[in-house]
Amino acid sequence: MDNCIFCKIAAKQIPAQIIYEDDDLLAFNDINPAAPIHFLIVPKKHLATLADCNASDTALLGKISLLAPKLAKELGCGYSVDTNGAPQGGFKTLFNTGPDGGQEVYHLHMHVIGGPRPWRRSLA
Ligand code: AMP
Ligand code: ZN
Repeated sequence: MDNCIFCKIAAKQIPAQIIYEDDDLLAFNDINPAAPIHFLIVPKKHLATLADCNASDTALLGKISLLAPKLAKELGCGYSVDTNGAPQGGFKTLFNTGPDGGQEVYHLHMHVIGGPRPWRRSLA
């Protein structure tokens, strides 16, 4: 997609703070973070929204979902269970879809948001 900012980031035509890359996915810090930790996981392939995905994208969506907790842990907001069995830490994951979903960039992305609160109210 010629005019897609996340395609341009994936093609290294514009800079981003990249925290993970493989053949299919890229993760980078959100330029306007809503919380102490806020990064985006995007497919390198252009898909406009979650609603544009189909069965052939199942593995890609699975990869995005599995990468979120791994990177969250590396960046300091992982989820765990302590020795008493109490849940600790964690993060929020979010796909905004369409105008009513608050989507601003029409290249599929999962927000991963975490770290000490308060967060920006719109995402908390
Ligand atoms: P959404 O509203 O779900 O489409 O979210 C788009 C997100 O992309 C917002 O949180 C923006 O801050 C973020 N964003 C926009 N441009 C860039 C960029 N060049 N690098 C990193 N994040 C960006
Ligand atoms: Zn794109």
